[in-house]
Amino acid sequence: MNHDAVREAICLAGKRLWEARLIVATEGNLSARIGPDRILATPSGIEKGLLTTEMLIECPLDSVANGVSSEIEMHQALYRRDPGLGAVVHAHPLQATAVVTCGLELPYDLTPESEDVLGPIAHVGFAMPGTPEVAAEISATPVDCRTYLLSHHGAVTTGKDVLDALRRMETLERVAELFVACRPLGGARPRG
Ligand SMILES: [Zn+2]
Repeated sequence: MNHDAVREAICLAGKRLWEARLIVATEGNLSARIGPDRILATPSGIEKGLLTTEMLIECPLDSVANGVSSEIEMHQALYRRDPGLGAVVHAHPLQATAVVTCGLELPYDLTPESEDVLGPIAHVGFAMPGTPEVAAEISATPVDCRTYLLSHHGAVTTGKDVLDALRRMETLERVAELFVACRPLGGARPRG
């Protein structure tokens, strides 16, 4: 995939997150690896549904480029620990965030699809967004994890490319919706 295609994929993913209200206003950030030590990242302060390819910013893995949110530090921590990682998506999906914020554990294997797509979910304790503590908390999770719930904040998904990470985020919110819908009916039973 050349960089133009990566830029297009990030814009498409931003639009899908925004249209599905997995992010609102200027929330969220996305990135994709374009070299061993370089990523393309979304700018801060911009609605991700209105992104254009030239707005994306090249950023090294060891510092935050001008115009990029300091939240990108948690993306960088994930790229540094896994050289095979292709993309990171951070959003604020309502139901998934509600589950972790209430101290509940979202079962990744609620449906066969969620088991396949999400894999085990890391439930990460609260740290103030944009501080090095967020990157430290997320770095303490198993390196093969691809789905992260951040208490009182949102979620992070990773993937081989940005559309892979996006699908994981969409599936995460879908399974959280099912989990929350089951609660007033007595809660999801073990799948068996
Ligand atoms: Zn956030």
